[in-house]
Amino acid sequence: MSTRVDDHAAPTPRLIERRSPTTGGPLRSIAITEPAALAAAVARARAAAPGWRDTPLERRLAHLERLRSLVLARADEYARRLSDETGKPWIETLGHELLFIPVFLDYHRKNAAKALARHKVKTPILFPGKASYIERFPRGVVAIIAPWNFPFQLAIVPVLQALTAGNTVVLKPSEITPESGEIIRELAAAIELPPGVVEVVQGDGAVGAALCRADVDMIFFTGSVATGRKVMAAAAERPIPVELELGGKDAMILCADAPLERAARAAVWGGLANAGQACISVERIFAVESIHDRFIELVERELDQLRQGAPEDDADVGPMIFEGQLRIVDRHVRAAVADGARLLRGGQRLDRPGNFYAPTLLTGVRPDMEIYRDETFGPVLPVIKVRDEEEALRLANDHQFGLNGSVWTRDVKRGLALASRMECGQVTVNDLFITAANPALPFGGIRSSGIGRYHGEAGLHAFTHTRAIMVDRAFMSDEPNWFPYRGKYPGMLDLFEGYATKNLLKLTRGLLRLRRAGKRDAP
Ligand code: NAD
Repeated sequence: MSTRVDDHAAPTPRLIERRSPTTGGPLRSIAITEPAALAAAVARARAAAPGWRDTPLERRLAHLERLRSLVLARADEYARRLSDETGKPWIETLGHELLFIPVFLDYHRKNAAKALARHKVKTPILFPGKASYIERFPRGVVAIIAPWNFPFQLAIVPVLQALTAGNTVVLKPSEITPESGEIIRELAAAIELPPGVVEVVQGDGAVGAALCRADVDMIFFTGSVATGRKVMAAAAERPIPVELELGGKDAMILCADAPLERAARAAVWGGLANAGQACISVERIFAVESIHDRFIELVERELDQLRQGAPEDDADVGPMIFEGQLRIVDRHVRAAVADGARLLRGGQRLDRPGNFYAPTLLTGVRPDMEIYRDETFGPVLPVIKVRDEEEALRLANDHQFGLNGSVWTRDVKRGLALASRMECGQVTVNDLFITAANPALPFGGIRSSGIGRYHGEAGLHAFTHTRAIMVDRAFMSDEPNWFPYRGKYPGMLDLFEGYATKNLLKLTRGLLRLRRAGKRDAP
């Protein structure tokens, strides 16, 4: 990406100039949001916040429901526009990006009312006659900052969750993939959301940093660990809540009894879908030695059948979205090979226009290699041979990242037991990624993979504050623990001991003594 600044007196917008990752040819440029326009967008979101918050949930849901027919009618157009920018196969854009709209609309329609409703909770026996509730209210204006790898999904899902929970939103897509933001802006206008409910600003990290410092009440960030740190530091200044969805180095553990055909196909798909540019890509494959060689054979067979190409070629693997990432991938692969890993397939950029990197298979990968320690984020399958499942589990968990993982075994009970010992936010047994597509399940990581959860109820809750409420019917003129304290200590002692020992009689006596001691003469 490059930006151009015109220094005419009449301000010409600075532009994000884009190139197709498939052909290298130019794509339509998109205007960068200047600081004054960013402040105005945030101000509109602020002004719209009370109105959207006070719109009853059913009306908010009904309004957002209009997206369904719109995206249905124009799915093909949107898939092509998004794929032009990312180079993804259309099937991936439809399935991994646009499908999330109806999936989350359905989930929210069925579950948001319950997730966001005030609910009664138990009141301790210490406080007779009172009722306790928890309710939720929106945070206000939420800044949503998105990355380039699933530019639409990773913007629209938090946008839908934040809006459903009653917030207004200022979205900043990645400067590598601004088209997703343009489409979301169009969608918001087409369903006639009130002005300010969804604002989209465009630009690079400087615009993102300015948004973090603007008058927002929460930052929801998806991106790299390095930027996540900066975002968290900006949030700490205020302080405001921040949710971080960061990188991963997901482990796939192949037990001795793994269903090998399925596991091999899964590994190839899980490592190469979206050209490997997924935070939940398979990035470390641990194969126990008894099945290692057979697994590699099967993976090679799968790789040899893959077709790489442009979206219009109906290929399996597209180009990489961002050329800068391709260089990182190439560096990781070259360093691993120089350090003793065995390159069985790929390992180079294709000799054609665009950012095509050949699907790559490496065996003999070791924990001291960069390709093992850092996120590669490209079409590479690094395989590590291990003695047994316990060694695999130990290595899988001994890592800075903890986003996703998977266990492969025909013994589902054992698989579940191993899954429960994986230190990460999501685990699948004999499957990949699928938890992220179930809107009822929370999504997020531990350690360097992030802080917080979204999707499901957790996601709706992430975009709210809780409010604790207790109600007294005011039958008494005061409370036993209020002033005056004089003469109340013995009563409090009874109450304390009665409560601690579950001696109801003593507790009641304590309460009565407190009441008697606090009795005042009638005025
Ligand atoms: P990035 O951190 O470079 O950029 C992410 C966003 O932050 C972009 O919109 C960028 O413009 C903005 N930004 C940059 N500097 C900023 C600053 N100082 N303040 C505020 N915003 C700033 O990440 P990326 O390269 O776009 O995305 C790839 C990374 O995202 C990978 O590490 C990947 O694992 C991670 N990711 C995580 C998830 C998840 O859900 N956990 C999902 C997808 C991608």
